[in-house]
Amino acid sequence: MSKTNYADHLLAMVKAKNPAEPEFLQAVQEVVESLTLVLDRYPEYRTHKILERIVEPERVIMFRVPWMDDQGEIHVNRGFRIQMNSAIGPYKGGLRFHPSVNLGILKFLAFEQVFKNSLTTLPMGGGKGGSDFDPKNKSDNEVMRFCQSFMNELYRHIGADTDVPAGDIGVGGREIGFLFGQYKKLRNEFTGVLTGKGLNWGGSLIRPEATGYGAVYFAAEMLATRKQTFQGKVCLVSGSGNVAQYTVEKINELGGKVVTLSDSNGYIYDEAGIDKKKLDFIMELKNVKRGRIKDYADAHKGAVYYPIDPKLDYNPLWNHKADCAFPSATQNEVNGKDAANLLKNGVYCIAEGANMPSTLEAVKQFIDAKILYGLGKAANAGGVATSGLEMSQNSMRIGWSREEVDNKLHGIMKNIHKACYETAERFGTPGNYVNGANIAGFLKVADAMLDQGLV
Ligand code: NDP
Repeated sequence: MSKTNYADHLLAMVKAKNPAEPEFLQAVQEVVESLTLVLDRYPEYRTHKILERIVEPERVIMFRVPWMDDQGEIHVNRGFRIQMNSAIGPYKGGLRFHPSVNLGILKFLAFEQVFKNSLTTLPMGGGKGGSDFDPKNKSDNEVMRFCQSFMNELYRHIGADTDVPAGDIGVGGREIGFLFGQYKKLRNEFTGVLTGKGLNWGGSLIRPEATGYGAVYFAAEMLATRKQTFQGKVCLVSGSGNVAQYTVEKINELGGKVVTLSDSNGYIYDEAGIDKKKLDFIMELKNVKRGRIKDYADAHKGAVYYPIDPKLDYNPLWNHKADCAFPSATQNEVNGKDAANLLKNGVYCIAEGANMPSTLEAVKQFIDAKILYGLGKAANAGGVATSGLEMSQNSMRIGWSREEVDNKLHGIMKNIHKACYETAERFGTPGNYVNGANIAGFLKVADAMLDQGLV
């Protein structure tokens, strides 16, 4: 079978086996297209059916999560944990609480996580989990009861050397606290079973900042290949949660200017830039008051709020003049039309804080235009890398300083960039970070799978 036929055959098989999982198929397609470059040089991966094995989760756990609201009414949500691949370390990956969560979305995230974790150079396998529970408009007590019920099942499947979950959309410090408390009660042990913990009970400095900072470090490395810096660059950022907030903080620190932020209701455009004081407002609004991004425009003269217009087939946030873009909300938030708008408006450096925020059509346009395009599994790996550093600190029962962790994070992002850049060159596609990340991430996992036999 030729390499193209083999890839087509594999994708057809994945589609037939997972018919209602478009996001998973999309993630697999992107990776398999890059890997066709590898299969010719290393036929052993085909003989040992590494691709066929890597697209099949080692284990999928799906469970009922019943909980009671403040009025005494009972609700039932669905919980998941996808244990995708443990060839290079314990499963590691976040938990997402969002009404859109389903098996296919978590499988795409778990699949991406395998390659991302491999790129960090730390010994972490790939996993992901979550629930279709919506933490929005729930009281702290309701969130606590939900987290406890979720952990009542999850605890038997995870452990510091087995599977170490972290946060993702809808799961921040508050949720990790409730989950950890229940795990500790059920197991009667205090271990590093979750990352993103509070500072005074095993958390790491810089973990909250890590994904956003890391995405900006990665973008700075990409800009450096063209002898440029962030100084004076205008940046578009989407989302306004954990990743978006620290992306803005680091861009400001490096001399750039951020003019947009969003949530699921709409976005704000602030031509003057979201400076430190305005970012403090956002952090209070989103992390404490749990309010909406619209309130930013109400409080800041010169900022304009645009509610989501369901009639539009593109996102106007991506249609402003800028140099750089940081999609940091959710999957598929940049479609083909958005990609065309970004290019038309002069954007030539994109670093994805979110996981798979660009559709395949958008990715193709970025690659064809030869812009600096840093895909999520490379650009946002700083979060899980720092989770890895949290695990190391927990094992050694020590805590590193803010500076130490930030330096390690910065070093890891530089190395990831280097690995992607050099691998893309080695396989004949210079500047193509998609191929670089997918191939570099794959090779390490694939070789470990070969070493460990057919398991
Ligand atoms: P948060 O929950 O802190 O923030 C998510 C942000 O995205 C919110 O502003 C939210 O708006 C918006 N958003 C979420 N879903 C949608 C949607 N369907 N449509 C429009 N806007 C949406 O999550 P994070 O910042 O942690 O995560 C953001 C992205 O980064 C995700 O793709 C996540 O997988 C990825 N990521 C996160 C890492 C981490 O360390 N946290 C690590 C690596 C990747 P609203 O409040 O209205 O829902």
